Amino acid sequence: MTRVQESSDPRVEPKRPVHPLAAPPESWDYATSIEDASLANLRDRYDLWIDGEWVKPAKKLWFESINPSTEQTLSEVAHAGPTDVDKAVRAARRALPGWRDMPASHRARILFAVSRLLQERSRELAVLETLDNGKPIRESRDVDVVLAAQHFFYYAGWTDKLDHVLPAGRKAEPIGVCGQVIPWNFPLLMAAWKLAPALAGGNTCVLKPAETTSLTALRLAEILEEAGVPPGVVNIVTGAGETGAALVNHPDVDKIAFTGSTDVGKLIQKSLAGTGKRLTLELGGKAAHLIFDDAPLDQAVEGIIQGIYFNQGQVCCAGSRLLVQESVERQLIDLLLARMQNIRVGNPLDKNTDLGAINSEEQLAKIESYLEIGEHEGATRRGPQCELPASGYWCAPTLFTGVTPTMRIATEEIFGPVLSVLTFRTPDEAIEKANNSLYGLSAGIWSDKGSKVFRMIEKLRAGVVWANTYNKFDASSPFGGYKESGFGREGGWHGLFPYLK
Ligand code: NAP
Ligand code: MG
Repeated sequence: MTRVQESSDPRVEPKRPVHPLAAPPESWDYATSIEDASLANLRDRYDLWIDGEWVKPAKKLWFESINPSTEQTLSEVAHAGPTDVDKAVRAARRALPGWRDMPASHRARILFAVSRLLQERSRELAVLETLDNGKPIRESRDVDVVLAAQHFFYYAGWTDKLDHVLPAGRKAEPIGVCGQVIPWNFPLLMAAWKLAPALAGGNTCVLKPAETTSLTALRLAEILEEAGVPPGVVNIVTGAGETGAALVNHPDVDKIAFTGSTDVGKLIQKSLAGTGKRLTLELGGKAAHLIFDDAPLDQAVEGIIQGIYFNQGQVCCAGSRLLVQESVERQLIDLLLARMQNIRVGNPLDKNTDLGAINSEEQLAKIESYLEIGEHEGATRRGPQCELPASGYWCAPTLFTGVTPTMRIATEEIFGPVLSVLTFRTPDEAIEKANNSLYGLSAGIWSDKGSKVFRMIEKLRAGVVWANTYNKFDASSPFGGYKESGFGREGGWHGLFPYLK
Protein backbone atom coordinates (compact mmCIF):
# COMPACT_ATOMS: atom_id res chain seq x y z
CA MET A 1 0.00 0.00 0.00
CA THR A 2 1.35 3.38 -0.90
CA ARG A 3 0.18 6.85 -0.31
CA VAL A 4 -0.04 8.63 -3.60
CA GLN A 5 0.55 12.34 -3.39
CA GLU A 6 2.61 13.10 -6.50
CA SER A 7 2.31 10.18 -8.83
CA SER A 8 3.94 9.78 -12.19
CA ASP A 9 2.23 6.46 -12.57
CA PRO A 10 1.89 5.58 -16.26
CA ARG A 11 -1.42 3.84 -15.60
CA VAL A 12 -3.12 7.20 -15.42
CA GLU A 13 -6.68 6.91 -16.63
CA PRO A 14 -6.44 5.43 -20.09
CA LYS A 15 -10.21 5.14 -20.09
CA ARG A 16 -12.79 7.89 -20.34
CA PRO A 17 -15.88 7.71 -18.19
CA VAL A 18 -18.85 6.14 -19.88
CA HIS A 19 -21.62 8.68 -19.77
CA PRO A 20 -25.17 7.43 -20.10
CA LEU A 21 -26.45 10.59 -21.72
CA ALA A 22 -23.80 12.10 -23.89
CA ALA A 23 -20.15 12.03 -24.79
CA PRO A 24 -17.97 13.03 -21.83
CA PRO A 25 -17.04 16.70 -21.88
CA GLU A 26 -13.82 17.46 -23.67
CA SER A 27 -12.71 19.51 -20.69
CA TRP A 28 -11.42 16.47 -18.78
CA ASP A 29 -7.64 16.33 -18.79
CA TYR A 30 -6.57 12.70 -18.83
CA ALA A 31 -2.88 13.41 -19.21
CA THR A 32 -2.08 14.42 -15.68
CA SER A 33 -2.52 12.42 -12.53
CA ILE A 34 -3.37 15.18 -10.05
CA GLU A 35 -6.49 17.16 -10.87
CA ASP A 36 -6.22 20.95 -10.74
CA ALA A 37 -7.85 22.26 -7.54
CA SER A 38 -8.28 25.77 -8.98
CA LEU A 39 -10.97 24.39 -11.32
CA ALA A 40 -13.33 24.47 -8.33
CA ASN A 41 -13.45 28.23 -8.76
CA LEU A 42 -14.24 28.94 -5.14
CA ARG A 43 -15.40 32.20 -3.69
CA ASP A 44 -14.14 33.28 -0.27
CA ARG A 45 -17.63 33.40 1.13
CA TYR A 46 -21.13 32.14 0.25
CA ASP A 47 -24.42 33.67 1.35
CA LEU A 48 -27.81 31.94 1.30
CA TRP A 49 -29.66 31.30 -1.97
CA ILE A 50 -33.17 32.63 -1.42
CA ASP A 51 -35.69 33.78 -4.03
CA GLY A 52 -33.10 33.72 -6.79
CA GLU A 53 -30.59 35.92 -4.96
CA TRP A 54 -27.61 35.63 -2.66
CA VAL A 55 -28.86 36.82 0.72
CA LYS A 56 -26.78 37.51 3.83
CA PRO A 57 -27.87 35.51 6.88
CA ALA A 58 -29.92 37.62 9.33
CA LYS A 59 -27.47 37.05 12.17
CA LYS A 60 -24.43 37.69 9.93
CA LEU A 61 -22.90 34.36 10.84
CA TRP A 62 -20.72 32.27 8.56
CA PHE A 63 -18.77 29.07 9.20
CA GLU A 64 -15.79 27.50 7.50
CA SER A 65 -16.04 24.61 5.07
CA ILE A 66 -12.78 22.71 5.05
CA ASN A 67 -11.01 20.24 2.84
CA PRO A 68 -10.90 17.06 4.96
CA SER A 69 -7.78 15.80 3.19
CA THR A 70 -5.72 18.85 4.21
CA GLU A 71 -7.79 20.52 6.98
CA GLN A 72 -7.44 23.78 5.03
CA THR A 73 -10.35 26.19 4.77
CA LEU A 74 -12.00 26.19 1.36
CA SER A 75 -14.58 28.91 1.88
CA GLU A 76 -16.99 30.44 4.35
CA VAL A 77 -20.63 29.40 4.27
CA ALA A 78 -23.63 31.23 5.71
CA HIS A 79 -25.26 29.88 8.85
CA ALA A 80 -29.02 30.19 8.41
CA GLY A 81 -31.20 30.69 11.48
CA PRO A 82 -35.01 30.48 11.82
CA THR A 83 -35.50 33.97 10.28
CA ASP A 84 -33.58 32.94 7.16
CA VAL A 85 -35.39 29.61 6.93
CA ASP A 86 -38.70 31.47 7.19
CA LYS A 87 -37.64 33.80 4.39
CA ALA A 88 -36.76 30.80 2.20
CA VAL A 89 -40.06 29.01 2.93
CA ARG A 90 -42.02 32.19 2.09
CA ALA A 91 -40.13 32.49 -1.19
CA ALA A 92 -40.93 28.86 -2.02
CA ARG A 93 -44.62 29.45 -1.18
CA ARG A 94 -44.77 32.54 -3.43
CA ALA A 95 -43.09 30.67 -6.29
CA LEU A 96 -45.39 27.64 -6.04
CA PRO A 97 -48.35 28.72 -8.24
CA GLY A 98 -46.10 29.90 -11.07
CA TRP A 99 -44.04 26.71 -11.13
CA ARG A 100 -46.98 24.36 -10.60
CA ASP A 101 -49.09 25.94 -13.32
CA MET A 102 -46.33 26.39 -15.86
CA PRO A 103 -46.94 24.16 -18.91
CA ALA A 104 -45.35 20.84 -18.01
CA SER A 105 -43.32 20.82 -21.22
CA HIS A 106 -41.67 24.10 -20.12
CA ARG A 107 -40.76 22.60 -16.75
CA ALA A 108 -39.35 19.59 -18.58
CA ARG A 109 -37.22 21.80 -20.80
CA ILE A 110 -35.77 23.56 -17.77
CA LEU A 111 -34.94 20.27 -16.03
CA PHE A 112 -33.30 18.93 -19.19
CA ALA A 113 -31.21 22.11 -19.23
CA VAL A 114 -30.13 21.45 -15.63
CA SER A 115 -28.98 17.97 -16.65
CA ARG A 116 -27.08 19.36 -19.63
CA LEU A 117 -25.35 22.04 -17.53
CA LEU A 118 -24.34 19.47 -14.92
CA GLN A 119 -22.64 17.54 -17.68
CA GLU A 120 -21.00 20.60 -19.16
CA ARG A 121 -19.67 21.67 -15.76
CA SER A 122 -18.90 18.13 -14.60
CA ARG A 123 -15.17 18.65 -14.17
CA GLU A 124 -15.60 21.75 -12.03
CA LEU A 125 -18.30 20.03 -9.95
CA ALA A 126 -16.23 16.88 -9.47
CA VAL A 127 -13.21 18.86 -8.29
CA LEU A 128 -15.38 20.91 -5.96
CA GLU A 129 -17.06 17.80 -4.52
CA THR A 130 -13.73 16.07 -3.97
CA LEU A 131 -12.26 19.12 -2.23
CA ASP A 132 -15.22 19.57 0.08
CA ASN A 133 -16.05 15.93 0.80
CA GLY A 134 -12.70 14.12 0.54
CA LYS A 135 -13.88 11.44 -1.89
CA PRO A 136 -11.57 10.30 -4.72
CA ILE A 137 -11.89 12.39 -7.88
CA ARG A 138 -12.51 9.22 -9.88
CA GLU A 139 -15.69 8.62 -7.89
CA SER A 140 -16.96 12.20 -7.94
CA ARG A 141 -16.23 12.31 -11.68
CA ASP A 142 -17.64 8.92 -12.71
CA VAL A 143 -20.39 8.43 -10.14
CA ASP A 144 -21.61 11.52 -8.27
CA VAL A 145 -21.78 14.06 -11.08
CA VAL A 146 -22.83 11.54 -13.74
CA LEU A 147 -25.71 10.25 -11.63
CA ALA A 148 -26.78 13.75 -10.60
CA ALA A 149 -27.10 14.70 -14.28
CA GLN A 150 -28.86 11.41 -14.98
CA HIS A 151 -31.41 12.12 -12.24
CA PHE A 152 -32.41 15.47 -13.69
CA PHE A 153 -32.54 13.90 -17.15
CA TYR A 154 -34.71 11.01 -15.95
CA TYR A 155 -37.23 13.16 -14.06
CA ALA A 156 -37.31 15.80 -16.81
CA GLY A 157 -38.68 12.99 -18.96
CA TRP A 158 -41.56 12.32 -16.57
CA THR A 159 -42.55 15.96 -16.16
CA ASP A 160 -44.98 16.23 -19.07
CA LYS A 161 -46.26 12.63 -18.84
CA LEU A 162 -47.46 12.49 -15.25
CA ASP A 163 -51.16 12.83 -16.08
CA HIS A 164 -50.96 9.97 -18.59
CA VAL A 165 -49.84 7.38 -16.08
CA LEU A 166 -52.52 8.21 -13.48
CA PRO A 167 -56.02 6.68 -13.67
CA ALA A 168 -58.22 8.42 -16.27
CA GLY A 169 -59.49 11.81 -15.18
CA ARG A 170 -56.91 12.20 -12.40
CA LYS A 171 -54.47 15.07 -12.57
CA ALA A 172 -51.00 15.03 -11.05
CA GLU A 173 -50.97 17.62 -8.24
CA PRO A 174 -47.80 18.66 -6.43
CA ILE A 175 -47.69 18.43 -2.63
CA GLY A 176 -46.55 22.06 -2.33
CA VAL A 177 -43.51 23.42 -0.48
CA CYS A 178 -40.94 20.72 0.28
CA GLY A 179 -38.27 20.96 2.98
CA GLN A 180 -35.36 18.69 2.05
CA VAL A 181 -32.48 17.82 4.37
CA ILE A 182 -29.47 15.91 3.03
CA PRO A 183 -26.25 14.33 4.39
CA TRP A 184 -22.59 14.83 3.53
CA ASN A 185 -21.68 11.53 1.91
CA PHE A 186 -23.00 12.30 -1.61
CA PRO A 187 -23.70 16.04 -1.37
CA LEU A 188 -24.48 16.90 -5.00
CA LEU A 189 -26.10 13.56 -5.77
CA MET A 190 -28.40 13.71 -2.74
CA ALA A 191 -29.42 17.24 -3.76
CA ALA A 192 -30.30 15.88 -7.21
CA TRP A 193 -32.20 12.91 -5.71
CA LYS A 194 -34.30 15.35 -3.72
CA LEU A 195 -34.77 18.24 -6.14
CA ALA A 196 -35.29 16.49 -9.48
CA PRO A 197 -38.48 14.51 -8.64
CA ALA A 198 -39.88 17.37 -6.53
CA LEU A 199 -39.45 19.87 -9.35
CA ALA A 200 -40.76 17.45 -11.97
CA GLY A 201 -43.93 17.11 -9.89
CA GLY A 202 -44.39 20.91 -9.75
CA ASN A 203 -43.32 21.42 -6.12
CA THR A 204 -41.05 24.17 -4.82
CA CYS A 205 -38.17 23.45 -2.44
CA VAL A 206 -36.03 24.60 0.43
CA LEU A 207 -32.89 22.46 0.59
CA LYS A 208 -30.62 22.18 3.62
CA PRO A 209 -27.20 20.67 2.78
CA ALA A 210 -25.00 19.08 5.47
CA GLU A 211 -22.79 21.45 7.42
CA THR A 212 -19.51 19.96 6.18
CA THR A 213 -20.47 19.80 2.49
CA SER A 214 -22.52 22.77 1.30
CA LEU A 215 -20.41 23.85 -1.64
CA THR A 216 -21.76 21.76 -4.51
CA ALA A 217 -25.36 22.53 -3.52
CA LEU A 218 -24.50 26.23 -3.67
CA ARG A 219 -22.90 25.73 -7.08
CA LEU A 220 -26.05 23.90 -8.14
CA ALA A 221 -28.00 27.07 -7.31
CA GLU A 222 -26.06 28.87 -10.05
CA ILE A 223 -26.78 26.05 -12.47
CA LEU A 224 -30.51 26.04 -11.67
CA GLU A 225 -30.66 29.76 -12.31
CA GLU A 226 -28.77 29.43 -15.58
CA ALA A 227 -31.13 26.64 -16.68
CA GLY A 228 -34.12 28.93 -16.13
CA VAL A 229 -35.52 27.71 -12.81
CA PRO A 230 -37.52 30.76 -11.66
CA PRO A 231 -36.60 32.62 -8.43
CA GLY A 232 -37.93 31.01 -5.26
CA VAL A 233 -38.55 27.58 -6.81
CA VAL A 234 -35.36 26.25 -5.17
CA ASN A 235 -33.89 27.92 -2.08
CA ILE A 236 -30.73 26.75 -0.34
CA VAL A 237 -30.28 27.33 3.37
CA THR A 238 -26.87 26.28 4.66
CA GLY A 239 -26.13 25.81 8.34
CA ALA A 240 -26.02 23.13 11.01
CA GLY A 241 -28.48 20.69 12.59
CA GLU A 242 -30.63 23.47 14.08
CA THR A 243 -31.09 24.93 10.58
CA GLY A 244 -32.49 21.56 9.51
CA ALA A 245 -34.72 21.48 12.59
CA ALA A 246 -36.04 24.99 11.83
CA LEU A 247 -36.96 23.83 8.33
CA VAL A 248 -38.58 20.60 9.53
CA ASN A 249 -40.65 22.47 12.12
CA HIS A 250 -41.66 25.41 9.92
CA PRO A 251 -45.48 25.48 9.87
CA ASP A 252 -45.76 26.35 6.19
CA VAL A 253 -43.82 23.37 4.82
CA ASP A 254 -46.05 20.66 3.30
CA LYS A 255 -43.56 17.85 3.01
CA ILE A 256 -40.24 16.87 4.56
CA ALA A 257 -37.77 14.61 2.78
CA PHE A 258 -34.84 13.62 4.95
CA THR A 259 -31.73 11.57 4.28
CA GLY A 260 -29.39 11.03 7.19
CA SER A 261 -28.94 9.10 10.39
CA THR A 262 -31.63 6.95 11.96
CA ASP A 263 -31.36 8.94 15.22
CA VAL A 264 -32.20 12.25 13.55
CA GLY A 265 -34.82 10.53 11.38
CA LYS A 266 -36.64 9.32 14.49
CA LEU A 267 -36.46 12.79 16.00
CA ILE A 268 -38.00 14.28 12.87
CA GLN A 269 -40.75 11.69 12.72
CA LYS A 270 -41.67 12.48 16.34
CA SER A 271 -41.68 16.21 15.78
CA LEU A 272 -43.95 15.88 12.72
CA ALA A 273 -46.49 13.62 14.43
CA GLY A 274 -49.94 15.17 14.17
CA THR A 275 -48.90 18.04 11.89
CA GLY A 276 -50.27 16.52 8.68
CA LYS A 277 -46.96 17.14 6.92
CA ARG A 278 -45.87 14.39 4.55
CA LEU A 279 -42.60 12.67 5.37
CA THR A 280 -40.10 10.36 3.70
CA LEU A 281 -37.00 9.08 5.50
CA GLU A 282 -33.88 7.55 3.98
CA LEU A 283 -31.81 6.44 6.96
CA GLY A 284 -28.94 4.17 7.92
CA GLY A 285 -28.07 0.60 7.03
CA LYS A 286 -25.95 -2.42 7.87
CA ALA A 287 -26.18 -4.41 4.67
CA ALA A 288 -25.56 -8.14 4.56
CA HIS A 289 -23.31 -9.12 1.67
CA LEU A 290 -23.69 -12.88 1.12
CA ILE A 291 -20.97 -14.96 -0.53
CA PHE A 292 -21.90 -18.56 -1.38
CA ASP A 293 -19.33 -21.26 -2.00
CA ASP A 294 -20.39 -21.54 -5.65
CA ALA A 295 -19.65 -17.85 -6.32
CA PRO A 296 -16.80 -16.78 -8.62
CA LEU A 297 -14.57 -15.70 -5.72
CA ASP A 298 -12.24 -13.42 -7.69
CA GLN A 299 -15.22 -11.41 -8.89
CA ALA A 300 -16.84 -11.51 -5.48
CA VAL A 301 -13.69 -9.98 -3.99
CA GLU A 302 -14.02 -7.01 -6.36
CA GLY A 303 -17.68 -6.70 -5.34
CA ILE A 304 -16.77 -6.79 -1.65
CA ILE A 305 -14.10 -4.11 -2.14
CA GLN A 306 -16.57 -1.95 -4.05
CA GLY A 307 -19.24 -2.69 -1.46
CA ILE A 308 -17.32 -1.50 1.58
CA TYR A 309 -14.50 0.80 0.44
CA PHE A 310 -16.41 2.90 -2.13
CA ASN A 311 -16.64 6.45 -0.75
CA GLN A 312 -14.53 5.32 2.26
CA GLY A 313 -17.46 3.16 3.35
CA GLN A 314 -19.49 6.29 4.12
CA VAL A 315 -22.42 4.85 2.22
CA CYS A 316 -25.81 4.03 3.74
CA CYS A 317 -26.08 0.90 1.59
CA ALA A 318 -22.44 -0.18 2.09
CA GLY A 319 -21.92 -3.95 2.21
CA SER A 320 -20.56 -3.68 5.73
CA ARG A 321 -21.64 -7.11 7.05
CA LEU A 322 -19.97 -9.82 5.00
CA LEU A 323 -21.59 -13.25 5.37
CA VAL A 324 -19.36 -15.95 3.88
CA GLN A 325 -20.23 -19.63 3.50
CA GLU A 326 -17.94 -21.41 5.93
CA SER A 327 -16.32 -23.73 3.38
CA VAL A 328 -14.77 -20.81 1.46
CA GLU A 329 -14.09 -18.41 4.31
CA ARG A 330 -10.32 -18.91 4.51
CA GLN A 331 -9.84 -18.77 0.78
CA LEU A 332 -11.96 -15.65 0.46
CA ILE A 333 -10.26 -13.81 3.33
CA ASP A 334 -6.82 -14.57 1.85
CA LEU A 335 -7.93 -13.19 -1.53
CA LEU A 336 -9.51 -10.17 0.10
CA LEU A 337 -6.47 -9.29 2.21
CA ALA A 338 -4.22 -9.65 -0.84
CA ARG A 339 -6.51 -7.37 -2.87
CA MET A 340 -6.58 -4.81 -0.05
CA GLN A 341 -2.81 -4.41 -0.39
CA ASN A 342 -3.46 -2.70 -3.74
CA ILE A 343 -5.89 -0.10 -2.45
CA ARG A 344 -4.30 3.30 -2.85
CA VAL A 345 -5.04 5.68 -0.01
CA GLY A 346 -4.18 9.34 -0.38
CA ASN A 347 -4.72 12.62 -2.18
CA PRO A 348 -8.37 12.55 -3.33
CA LEU A 349 -7.48 14.77 -6.30
CA ASP A 350 -5.15 12.06 -7.63
CA LYS A 351 -6.96 10.11 -10.34
CA ASN A 352 -5.26 6.91 -9.14
CA THR A 353 -6.53 7.18 -5.58
CA ASP A 354 -8.98 4.50 -4.46
CA LEU A 355 -9.63 5.60 -0.89
CA GLY A 356 -9.82 9.29 -0.02
CA ALA A 357 -10.24 11.20 3.24
CA ILE A 358 -12.92 10.65 5.87
CA ASN A 359 -15.34 13.56 5.69
CA SER A 360 -14.81 15.08 9.12
CA GLU A 361 -12.85 14.81 12.32
CA GLU A 362 -16.07 13.81 14.07
CA GLN A 363 -16.75 10.96 11.63
CA LEU A 364 -13.13 9.76 11.91
CA ALA A 365 -13.43 9.70 15.70
CA LYS A 366 -16.62 7.62 15.36
CA ILE A 367 -14.92 5.12 13.04
CA GLU A 368 -11.86 4.88 15.31
CA SER A 369 -14.10 4.25 18.30
CA TYR A 370 -15.58 1.25 16.43
CA LEU A 371 -12.07 -0.05 15.66
CA GLU A 372 -11.46 -0.10 19.41
CA ILE A 373 -14.88 -1.59 20.13
CA GLY A 374 -14.23 -4.41 17.64
CA GLU A 375 -10.91 -5.29 19.23
CA HIS A 376 -12.39 -5.03 22.68
CA GLU A 377 -15.23 -7.36 21.66
CA GLY A 378 -12.66 -9.96 20.67
CA ALA A 379 -12.73 -9.75 16.88
CA THR A 380 -9.45 -9.76 14.93
CA ARG A 381 -8.59 -6.52 13.16
CA ARG A 382 -6.82 -6.99 9.82
CA GLY A 383 -5.76 -4.99 6.82
CA PRO A 384 -2.72 -3.60 5.05
CA GLN A 385 -0.04 -1.58 6.80
CA CYS A 386 -0.71 1.83 5.46
CA GLU A 387 1.19 5.10 5.58
CA LEU A 388 -1.42 7.80 6.02
CA PRO A 389 -0.95 11.51 5.29
CA ALA A 390 0.11 13.62 8.28
CA SER A 391 -2.74 16.11 8.05
CA GLY A 392 -6.38 15.46 7.22
CA TYR A 393 -8.72 12.67 8.34
CA TRP A 394 -7.71 9.18 7.26
CA CYS A 395 -8.62 5.59 7.96
CA ALA A 396 -6.89 2.61 6.34
CA PRO A 397 -9.08 -0.10 4.79
CA THR A 398 -9.84 -2.54 7.57
CA LEU A 399 -11.66 -5.82 8.12
CA PHE A 400 -12.57 -7.76 11.23
CA THR A 401 -12.67 -11.56 11.30
CA GLY A 402 -13.99 -13.67 14.13
CA VAL A 403 -17.09 -11.48 14.35
CA THR A 404 -20.20 -12.87 16.04
CA PRO A 405 -23.75 -11.67 15.27
CA THR A 406 -24.27 -9.86 18.57
CA MET A 407 -21.10 -7.76 18.48
CA ARG A 408 -21.61 -4.04 18.03
CA ILE A 409 -19.39 -4.06 14.94
CA ALA A 410 -21.86 -6.58 13.44
CA THR A 411 -25.02 -4.68 14.31
CA GLU A 412 -24.26 -0.94 14.32
CA GLU A 413 -23.57 1.29 11.35
CA ILE A 414 -19.90 2.33 11.37
CA PHE A 415 -20.05 4.44 8.19
CA GLY A 416 -16.37 3.96 7.40
CA PRO A 417 -13.97 1.60 5.57
CA VAL A 418 -14.47 -1.19 8.09
CA LEU A 419 -15.83 -4.61 7.12
CA SER A 420 -17.16 -7.16 9.62
CA VAL A 421 -16.85 -10.76 8.43
CA LEU A 422 -19.25 -13.44 9.68
CA THR A 423 -19.94 -16.93 8.39
CA PHE A 424 -22.90 -19.23 7.66
CA ARG A 425 -23.34 -22.88 6.69
CA THR A 426 -26.71 -23.14 4.91
CA PRO A 427 -28.86 -20.76 2.86
CA ASP A 428 -31.46 -20.71 5.65
CA GLU A 429 -28.84 -19.68 8.18
CA ALA A 430 -27.64 -17.00 5.74
CA ILE A 431 -31.14 -15.55 5.50
CA GLU A 432 -31.66 -15.66 9.23
CA LYS A 433 -28.38 -13.86 9.92
CA ALA A 434 -28.84 -11.38 7.07
CA ASN A 435 -32.30 -10.38 8.31
CA ASN A 436 -31.18 -10.20 11.93
CA SER A 437 -30.76 -6.41 11.82
CA LEU A 438 -32.65 -3.32 12.84
CA TYR A 439 -31.94 -2.03 9.35
CA GLY A 440 -33.24 -3.16 5.97
CA LEU A 441 -31.80 -0.92 3.30
CA SER A 442 -29.73 -3.13 1.01
CA ALA A 443 -28.10 -6.52 0.57
CA GLY A 444 -25.88 -8.36 -1.90
CA ILE A 445 -25.57 -11.98 -3.05
CA TRP A 446 -22.82 -13.76 -4.93
CA SER A 447 -23.69 -17.16 -6.34
CA ASP A 448 -23.38 -18.93 -9.65
CA LYS A 449 -26.88 -20.40 -9.33
CA GLY A 450 -29.66 -18.17 -10.62
CA SER A 451 -32.36 -20.16 -8.82
CA LYS A 452 -30.59 -19.69 -5.49
CA VAL A 453 -30.20 -15.96 -6.13
CA PHE A 454 -33.91 -15.49 -6.80
CA ARG A 455 -34.90 -17.60 -3.80
CA MET A 456 -32.67 -15.53 -1.53
CA ILE A 457 -33.85 -12.20 -2.93
CA GLU A 458 -37.44 -13.08 -2.03
CA LYS A 459 -36.48 -13.76 1.56
CA LEU A 460 -34.09 -10.88 2.17
CA ARG A 461 -35.73 -8.01 4.00
CA ALA A 462 -33.92 -5.23 2.16
CA GLY A 463 -35.13 -2.46 -0.13
CA VAL A 464 -32.36 -3.03 -2.66
CA VAL A 465 -30.66 -6.34 -3.41
CA TRP A 466 -27.71 -6.62 -5.78
CA ALA A 467 -26.81 -9.98 -7.30
CA ASN A 468 -23.23 -10.64 -8.43
CA THR A 469 -22.49 -6.93 -8.29
CA TYR A 470 -22.68 -4.20 -5.64
CA ASN A 471 -23.31 -0.46 -5.31
CA LYS A 472 -24.80 -0.05 -8.75
CA PHE A 473 -27.19 2.88 -9.08
CA ASP A 474 -29.51 4.10 -11.77
CA ALA A 475 -32.01 6.96 -11.81
CA SER A 476 -34.74 4.63 -13.06
CA SER A 477 -34.57 2.18 -10.14
CA PRO A 478 -36.18 2.90 -6.78
CA PHE A 479 -34.01 3.08 -3.66
CA GLY A 480 -35.08 2.97 -0.03
CA GLY A 481 -35.40 0.77 3.01
CA TYR A 482 -37.44 -1.16 5.52
CA LYS A 483 -37.45 -1.06 9.32
CA GLU A 484 -35.05 1.53 10.79
CA SER A 485 -33.67 2.30 7.33
CA GLY A 486 -36.72 4.50 6.75
CA PHE A 487 -39.68 4.61 4.38
CA GLY A 488 -40.53 6.00 0.98
CA ARG A 489 -38.58 5.44 -2.21
CA GLU A 490 -36.28 7.70 -4.20
CA GLY A 491 -35.45 7.11 -7.84
CA GLY A 492 -37.59 5.69 -10.58
CA TRP A 493 -41.31 6.21 -11.00
CA HIS A 494 -41.74 5.30 -7.32
CA GLY A 495 -39.62 8.33 -6.41
CA LEU A 496 -42.31 10.63 -7.83
CA PHE A 497 -45.14 9.37 -5.58
CA PRO A 498 -43.92 11.17 -2.44
CA TYR A 499 -44.05 14.45 -4.38
CA LEU A 500 -47.59 14.07 -5.78
CA LYS A 501 -50.92 14.31 -4.02
P1 NAP B 1 -27.27 13.31 10.19
O1 NAP B 1 -26.43 13.73 11.30
O2 NAP B 1 -28.58 12.71 10.48
O3 NAP B 1 -27.44 14.57 9.26
C1 NAP B 1 -28.19 14.55 8.08
C2 NAP B 1 -28.71 15.94 7.81
O4 NAP B 1 -29.62 16.31 8.82
C3 NAP B 1 -27.63 17.00 7.81
O5 NAP B 1 -27.95 18.00 6.87
C4 NAP B 1 -27.75 17.55 9.22
O6 NAP B 1 -27.23 18.84 9.36
C5 NAP B 1 -29.23 17.54 9.43
N1 NAP B 1 -29.67 17.53 10.80
C6 NAP B 1 -28.98 17.24 11.93
N2 NAP B 1 -29.77 17.32 13.01
C7 NAP B 1 -31.00 17.66 12.57
C8 NAP B 1 -32.25 17.90 13.20
N3 NAP B 1 -32.41 17.77 14.51
N4 NAP B 1 -33.32 18.24 12.45
C9 NAP B 1 -33.19 18.35 11.11
N5 NAP B 1 -32.03 18.15 10.46
C10 NAP B 1 -30.95 17.80 11.17
O7 NAP B 1 -26.54 12.26 9.26
P2 NAP B 1 -25.09 12.38 8.65
O8 NAP B 1 -24.13 12.00 9.70
O9 NAP B 1 -24.93 13.65 7.95
O10 NAP B 1 -25.17 11.27 7.51
C11 NAP B 1 -24.85 9.96 7.73
C12 NAP B 1 -26.11 9.13 7.90
O11 NAP B 1 -26.97 9.27 6.78
C13 NAP B 1 -25.81 7.66 7.97
O12 NAP B 1 -26.51 7.09 9.03
C14 NAP B 1 -26.30 7.11 6.66
O13 NAP B 1 -26.65 5.78 6.66
C15 NAP B 1 -27.41 8.01 6.33
N6 NAP B 1 -27.64 8.04 4.89
C16 NAP B 1 -28.74 7.40 4.39
C17 NAP B 1 -28.99 7.39 3.03
C18 NAP B 1 -30.19 6.69 2.47
O14 NAP B 1 -30.53 6.93 1.32
N7 NAP B 1 -30.85 5.84 3.21
C19 NAP B 1 -28.11 8.04 2.17
C20 NAP B 1 -26.99 8.68 2.70
C21 NAP B 1 -26.78 8.68 4.09
P3 NAP B 1 -25.69 19.06 9.77
O15 NAP B 1 -24.87 18.21 8.88
O16 NAP B 1 -25.49 20.47 9.51
O17 NAP B 1 -25.59 18.66 11.20
MG1 MG C 1 -15.94 20.34 3.61
